[in-house]
Amino acid sequence: MLPAPKILIIGQGIAGTVVSFMLSQQQIEHDVIDNSNPSSSSQIAAGIVHPITGRRLAIAPQYNVALHEAKLFYQEMSKQLGNTFFEQKIYSKYMPM
Ligand SMILES: Cc1cc2nc3c(=O)[nH]c(=O)nc-3n(C[C@H](O)[C@H](O)[C@H](O)COP(=O)(O)OP(=O)(O)OC[C@H]3O[C@@H](n4cnc5c(N)ncnc54)[C@H](O)[C@@H]3O)c2cc1C
Repeated sequence: MLPAPKILIIGQGIAGTVVSFMLSQQQIEHDVIDNSNPSSSSQIAAGIVHPITGRRLAIAPQYNVALHEAKLFYQEMSKQLGNTFFEQKIYSKYMPM
């Protein structure tokens, strides 16, 4: 059997962090490098999850599904890393409990 290819994630914004966490959960070896740009999007973003998107300010399709998956993901991340990454502050019909 061929050895698994070495995985290198370039950039540790939210995307690189999520991919790295998911690989770690499956015990897939990988490295992450980041050039520490203090003004990258993930460093300066407000970090708000909301259902409104696009120029027409419409509810994003599949928003409930995406939010549900995001909550499960961040709950697992919090459990594994002992920190809080997601906090629901507003409850509405667009946001599943
Ligand atoms: C002002 C602002 C507010 C925002 N607010 C929200 C919000 O409230 N809610 C929301 O959902 N989204 C928000 N966004 C959008 C959100 O921040 C981005 O969609 C998201 O952070 C993108 O993440 P990313 O990991 O794809 O990219 P990035 O955050 O850009 O991460 C890429 C990383 O790769 C590094 N990198 C790049 N090139 C290299 C290289 N060659 N070698 C090594 N490292 C490299 C960078 O330094 C960076 O750390 C906001 C964006 C901005 C600018």
